[in-house]
Amino acid sequence: MGSNVGFLAEFATAGPTRSALELAAGAAALAAESGGAAVALAYGPGAADAADLGPAGAGRAVVLGTDAAPAISVAGTLAAAVAAGDFAVLLAPATPNGRDLAAALVGLHGLPAFGPVRAVSLAGGTVRCEQSTLQGAVITMSEPAEGAAGPAVVLVAANTFSPREPAGGAAAVTTAVPVDSPFGQARIVESQVETAAIAALEEADIIVAGGRGTGGEAGFAALRELAEVLGGAVGASRAAADAGWVPYQLQIGQTGKVVKPALYFAAGISGAIQHRVGMQAAEHVVAINRDPDAPIGEFADLFVVGDLFQIVPALTAELRRRSQA
Ligand SMILES: Cc1cc2nc3c(=O)[nH]c(=O)nc-3n(C[C@H](O)[C@H](O)[C@H](O)COP(=O)(O)OP(=O)(O)OC[C@H]3O[C@@H](n4cnc5c(N)ncnc54)[C@H](O)[C@@H]3O)c2cc1C
Repeated sequence: MGSNVGFLAEFATAGPTRSALELAAGAAALAAESGGAAVALAYGPGAADAADLGPAGAGRAVVLGTDAAPAISVAGTLAAAVAAGDFAVLLAPATPNGRDLAAALVGLHGLPAFGPVRAVSLAGGTVRCEQSTLQGAVITMSEPAEGAAGPAVVLVAANTFSPREPAGGAAAVTTAVPVDSPFGQARIVESQVETAAIAALEEADIIVAGGRGTGGEAGFAALRELAEVLGGAVGASRAAADAGWVPYQLQIGQTGKVVKPALYFAAGISGAIQHRVGMQAAEHVVAINRDPDAPIGEFADLFVVGDLFQIVPALTAELRRRSQA
């Protein structure tokens, strides 16, 4: 087995996606352990600029394709690049494209597969993956079986790695010779663009999230004002999304988004385990709940017991006053 660390780097027209920057940082850290290179396997409309991933952590980049077609179209080219790449491990983002390509690679090469993981290490040349199961109640550690074929393919959950401060020069780029996809041609039938405010949720430093306790759209209007003053994004529990008060793209948790802000406000959210697994990586959690026994009080850094309809507007007004002072 090789020592290089490959990662699937998805590009939008505007440049590398957030997942590409996260995996570049993760791959660089693992490559430092293995003594190999962090190699971006780049695809998507802006992938011709894969050299830009150098400061993000990639030492080399292989451009698999620059079409806006579904990523599965580059599966054949990717499989050939992996066969030639001397890899110890391949990281794939837990995005729709990342999942498709990871599954294709595993199927074509019979490689060991893991994920979505929340940590991965390469100590002593052995890939070790940390996975959270049973809704976060159990953490499992796994590694490829003795004599397993080729590099392990590891699906990495969003926000497992943080993009690093840009450092160093451009990545050395090669362009892969295209190989037909064994899965035939795929085409995009329909696409829906998330609004900027929604897309920002996974990258936000501050999130103000609301739950059933907000009582409806009017309650969320108060949260939106607080988020605006703080320069943050609005999130929600599943109960709020199920009720139709906010779109599902705002849902945080087991079946929603996984976020990692510096500051997470949970207003009118009880703190069910399925919500917690989506926000427990937040650095600081402030909960506002009128029930002193709400489970969120057990893991909030600051637990404010009271009515969110009084506390949130008062907090917003005070922050406004201070910012104008
Ligand atoms: C398979 C599965 C997957 C799931 N996935 C997710 C997921 O991804 N994300 C998710 O969030 N949930 C998920 N759930 C649902 C989860 O179990 C909870 O039901 C949900 O998180 C509860 O949402 P909530 O906290 O908003 O509502 P509740 O549990 O009803 O809590 C509302 C809270 O608001 C407080 N409150 C009420 N009024 C006020 C007020 N005026 N001021 C202050 N506090 C007030 C109450 O005291 C209470 O604590 C999933 C469930 C299952 C079974």
